[in-house]
Amino acid sequence: MQTITSDVVVVGLGGFGSAALWRLAERGVDVVGIDRFDIGHNLGSSHGVTRLFRVACMEHPGLAAVARTSLELWTELGERYGETYVEQTGCLSVGRPDSRPVRGTIAAAAAAGIEVAHLTHAELVERYPQYAGHDDETVGVLDPEGGLCFPERNVTAQVRAAAEAGAQVYPGTRVTSVELVDGGVRVVTPTAVFEAGQAVVAAGAWNRKLLPGLPLRPRRTPLYWFAPKADATASFDLSRFPSFIYELADGRSVWGHGSDDGFHIKIGLGDHGTDDTDPDELDRYIHPRTDVERLADAVATAFPQVDPVPVKAIPCMITNSPDEQFLVGRPEGDPRLVVAGGDSGHGFKHAAGVGELLARIAVGERPYGDIGFLDPTRFTAQATRDFVG
Ligand SMILES: Cc1cc2nc3c(=O)[nH]c(=O)nc-3n(C[C@H](O)[C@H](O)[C@H](O)COP(=O)(O)OP(=O)(O)OC[C@H]3O[C@@H](n4cnc5c(N)ncnc54)[C@H](O)[C@@H]3O)c2cc1C
Repeated sequence: MQTITSDVVVVGLGGFGSAALWRLAERGVDVVGIDRFDIGHNLGSSHGVTRLFRVACMEHPGLAAVARTSLELWTELGERYGETYVEQTGCLSVGRPDSRPVRGTIAAAAAAGIEVAHLTHAELVERYPQYAGHDDETVGVLDPEGGLCFPERNVTAQVRAAAEAGAQVYPGTRVTSVELVDGGVRVVTPTAVFEAGQAVVAAGAWNRKLLPGLPLRPRRTPLYWFAPKADATASFDLSRFPSFIYELADGRSVWGHGSDDGFHIKIGLGDHGTDDTDPDELDRYIHPRTDVERLADAVATAFPQVDPVPVKAIPCMITNSPDEQFLVGRPEGDPRLVVAGGDSGHGFKHAAGVGELLARIAVGERPYGDIGFLDPTRFTAQATRDFVG
């Protein structure tokens, strides 16, 4: 069997891994990237055309620095390739003043010094009439730096930039094991063994298949698109209906964004259910009753001008960690391994920023910002056992 050597091998070239490959190659590191599928494929977590982009992130104030790093890096890459990797339409957090999106976004913005616009109910419905008509306590917070990013396009560009900077890329190559050996790693595939000083493992929903100790639980989470009812097409155009997270008065939450083709509005449910999945056995069918019913009901309540029967749906996966934050760093401090995973359904916007962190960790540079909240060793052994069962 062929043996290929390098300083670093990156396993998994989705959102996080392709960014790590790019950031390492840009530093002149001798790096190899491997993915079991084609670059920009639709079988993991980074597909479905768009993802919400936010800088004032309700999930953790420390994420603002990561999102801003993504923004800087993707803007620079966009200038290089003449493509758009972040479209800044603004991102609206909507709900009652004590709802998680409103409270969390305001807190994150205050902690990170981000200027968000506070909209009273009257201001909200005047500017965005789609939110009129059912709860006059609903207010809005607009993160002007927010908008959309583009999973397949951004991943493909990151791999292109990595390859142009000297990375060797092996798509269609499944890693069967990552072995820790004296002085480095052996990454085994059916056709070659990759030997390196260290591995960056960013296998998304498959991370635990390669590193079984990680506290991660993949979950099947399809993506859905809806169409506006006949006379409402214009008001659901992306220019008038930017990306949003909306907690309804009854506690359900939806997220999504308007259409940029006059037809497809993306809407998803904030609650991802409770069923874990094996990524190798993922049910890739959409089931009208069990999959769609709860979301359709929430859509009908939130936006009566949208037809609640989806026009399109595709399977996808999120991978939760116990505290719904990512794992970025060295598991057990091992100098041969860096891991990125646990996207918990909010990771893509941070992909380039996480890739930069992974590269810094791998080469021994200081991470930017305080990233203790992403440290993969932050969970106790008991918490890990309780979480993964
Ligand atoms: C429905 C839904 C909505 C979402 N909405 C948002 C949003 O609005 N905003 C946001 O920021 N994020 C959002 N996310 C989350 C975001 O999509 C993920 O955080 C991100 O895509 C995770 O990237 P990843 O690199 O961890 O995984 P992936 O992109 O899946 O990458 C993992 C890669 O590893 C490869 N791989 C796995 N096993 C092996 C192996 N054995 N050998 C070789 N290669 C391997 C896979 O083929 C894959 O390419 C959403 C996710 C879902 C599912």
